[in-house]
Amino acid sequence: MAIRTIREIGDPVLNKISKEVREITPRVNDLIDDMFETMYEENGVGLAAVQVGVLKRIVVIDTTGEDPLLLINPRILETSGEQTGNEGCLSVPGKVGVVTRPNYVKVEAQDEELNTFVIEGEELLARALCHEIEHLDGHLYVEKADGPLLDVDAVEEEE
Ligand code: ZN
Repeated sequence: MAIRTIREIGDPVLNKISKEVREITPRVNDLIDDMFETMYEENGVGLAAVQVGVLKRIVVIDTTGEDPLLLINPRILETSGEQTGNEGCLSVPGKVGVVTRPNYVKVEAQDEELNTFVIEGEELLARALCHEIEHLDGHLYVEKADGPLLDVDAVEEEE
């Protein structure tokens, strides 16, 4: 396992469309391990493979620090409701922006053996699912942020 370098906003790879994963090779397994390790090291709640420069449709999420979630080839089946709140991204270090997202999403994805499963998420998990899946299509949350991005330090002091 290894910590991988996170690509930051301005790096053109972040705007590319990731490719479907059709086979779990040892390289893919290594990538998944490294993605979890990198996400935990950076205190993120989610990471898409494109953020470490690999254009594969792979996402890792953990909103509590105890619920590692791997999604391969994820796609959103259903959304409902609305939530508005601060959102950050490991590729946009030190910043947060206000983004409105669905409050509930239902997602179909594949696991590490390419078996299909469905996961539902609300609140932070719904936000993370939407955010990470958008990375796979080359989008960053800053495109959706309402108003200017703020320094994360300033926001934390306010709270
Ligand atoms: Zn992100």
